Amino acid sequence: MDQSKTGRFIAQCRKEAGLTQFQLGERLGVTDRAVSKWERGLSLPDASIMEELCEVLGITVNELFTGERLELMENYNKKAEENLLEMKKKEEETYRQMLRMENVIGALSGAVFVFGCISLVRAGRLDFGVHYPGHGTQPPTPEFLLALAVAPTGLYFAGELERKAGYYKCKHCGHEYVITTGTFFRAPHLGRTRYLKCPSCGKKSWMKKTPVKED
Ligand SMILES: [Zn+2]
Repeated sequence: MDQSKTGRFIAQCRKEAGLTQFQLGERLGVTDRAVSKWERGLSLPDASIMEELCEVLGITVNELFTGERLELMENYNKKAEENLLEMKKKEEETYRQMLRMENVIGALSGAVFVFGCISLVRAGRLDFGVHYPGHGTQPPTPEFLLALAVAPTGLYFAGELERKAGYYKCKHCGHEYVITTGTFFRAPHLGRTRYLKCPSCGKKSWMKKTPVKED
C-alpha cells in the first residue's frame, strides 16, 4: 500500500464528513496530532481503531488501504458482468429460436416432399417417364416437381439455421466454433452431435452443441 496516498484519502474523507482533525481524533480516542500524522503519510492508524475509523469516514478497510473509493470500479465490474449475462441470455434465446425455426422448415420440407410423392402414386406415375405396361411415358406430376424444387431448398435453409445456431466445442482444447456449410453436410452426426476435426488443435471427436460461448 501507498501510505501517503492513504493519508491524503483520510484527509479527503474527513473533510467530506465535515470533521476537523481534532473532532475525528476525539471520535477515535486519539489526538489531533496522530490524525495529522496519518494524513501526512507519516504513520498508519492502529489496527485496533482502523475499523472504527472506516466507519466514521464511511469507507471500507479495502478502500482505506487502496487510498481511493472503489465502489465506482466495483459497480462498473458488476454492470459489465450483468451485461455479459444479458448477452448470453439473448444469444441462448436466439439459439433456441433458430432450432425451432429449423424444425418448422424441416417438417414443412418433409411434408411437401411426401405430398409430392403421394401425388405421384395417386397419378400412377412412379415410373418417372419410363414406360411400364399400362402407363405410357408421362412426366411426373406438377406437385412432385414442386416438391423437388422446394424440399431441398427448405432442407438447405434448415441446415444453415442449425449450422449457425450455437457452437461446437472441442473436448480436447475447449475451442468453440461454427462449422462451414461443407463440413455441416459431410460430417457424420447423431442428432446435433457431430464428429468433427477441431480447427484449433486438429483432434477429432464427437462434439456437442452449446448455445453460447462459455469462455
Ligand atoms: Zn481442439
